[in-house]
Amino acid sequence: GAERTKNVLILMSDTGGGHRASAEAIRDAFKIEFGDEYRIFVKDVCKEYAGWPLNDMERSYKFMVKHVQLWKVAFHSTSPKWIHSSYLAAIAAYYAKEVEAGLMEYKPDIIISVHPLMQHIPLWVLKWQGLQKKVVFVTVITDLNTCHPTWFHPRVNRCYCPSNEVSKRALLDGLEESQIRVFGLPIRPSFARAVLVKDDLRQELEMDPNLPAVLLMGGGEGMGPVKETARALGESLLDNETGKPIGQLIIICGRNKTLASKLESEEWKIPVKVRRFETQMEKWMGACDCIITKAGPGTIAEALIRGLPIILNDYIPGQEKGNVPYVVDNGAGVFTRSPNETARLVSEWFSTKTDELKRMSENALKLAQPEAVFDIVKDIHELAKQRGPLANIPYVLTSSFTSII
Ligand code: UDP
Repeated sequence: GAERTKNVLILMSDTGGGHRASAEAIRDAFKIEFGDEYRIFVKDVCKEYAGWPLNDMERSYKFMVKHVQLWKVAFHSTSPKWIHSSYLAAIAAYYAKEVEAGLMEYKPDIIISVHPLMQHIPLWVLKWQGLQKKVVFVTVITDLNTCHPTWFHPRVNRCYCPSNEVSKRALLDGLEESQIRVFGLPIRPSFARAVLVKDDLRQELEMDPNLPAVLLMGGGEGMGPVKETARALGESLLDNETGKPIGQLIIICGRNKTLASKLESEEWKIPVKVRRFETQMEKWMGACDCIITKAGPGTIAEALIRGLPIILNDYIPGQEKGNVPYVVDNGAGVFTRSPNETARLVSEWFSTKTDELKRMSENALKLAQPEAVFDIVKDIHELAKQRGPLANIPYVLTSSFTSII
């Protein structure tokens, strides 16, 4: 029968950590799997309210004065720790209004949060609206290991964990086994489903067809010791006896234009390509034999899918720290902050220790979960079906929230 198109609201914030990438991966997978059955809205809760709250101090201030006391009372019994400061409470009050406005505008049948701070308030708003039983609410965690406890909320319908380590934390934090699914980190479908042949890719990307290749990057923003590492590799990948290169280097600088122009202006004794933001990362990874990067979850998950051994050379303190043991303990790579050490490792992998490179590549492939994003959207689809034939969800601007404050 012609069922009504269902609305999906994905709540994200473009604050690094691959939240946007995950949100877009989920959106694309819904389109591939279910076509017009779902209408997807990706809402960047922070960006749409430009610069807020710093650019909007007056409004925030008024809000605080007016609502903080009530907000504190409302949150008293169930609030997470981070909400206890009045400033955060004020931000939360503002954000709650935006969530409610989002509900009114998009009338979601399903809400997907891909951000550690987007469970509590949306779930509160749903409760106030009396919609908890009607709207499916799920969390998709985008940290591979040491994630913040605010990711976990006992009232979600599902919590998708990228790894067993994260699911253990979820259980410890009070979620039920039945709420948890471990499918992997959602990666763009173009990545997972691509059928790529290394020789063809090298030709297309105008790389040397024979020399082993190392990919050097630092997340979307080109962070970490990229420049120093590139220079060290420029030396270590040159055979001093023959004067010939034993490898080639691809540097992807992402949005870091300063880094790109600096590297473009240098002279190299080995084949080097310096690239800026690339939209087809699956091709560059498919054409290379190993990767050097900071410990971003997106880059790691993608490299695993392509079977690339990983040298991690940096991590963002907090959420990225646990990504290091995830890679290293599973034998898919190594961690070193030293550019010289990195350069030495790569030159060994490309000469005397090719078996080690091969073994790590196999371990990487074992960890890879290319189907994760499809498993996630199919599971959400099942959850939505269990809600039965959806009547139009009665979204109304509730007196509960707006008039309380
Ligand atoms: N990326 C890209 N083009 C670039 C550089 C990076 O598409 O030129 C993608 C990369 O493939 C990954 C994401 O940006 O999907 C980076 O996410 P990650 O979690 O590794 O780090 P973040 O930059 O979010 O801290």
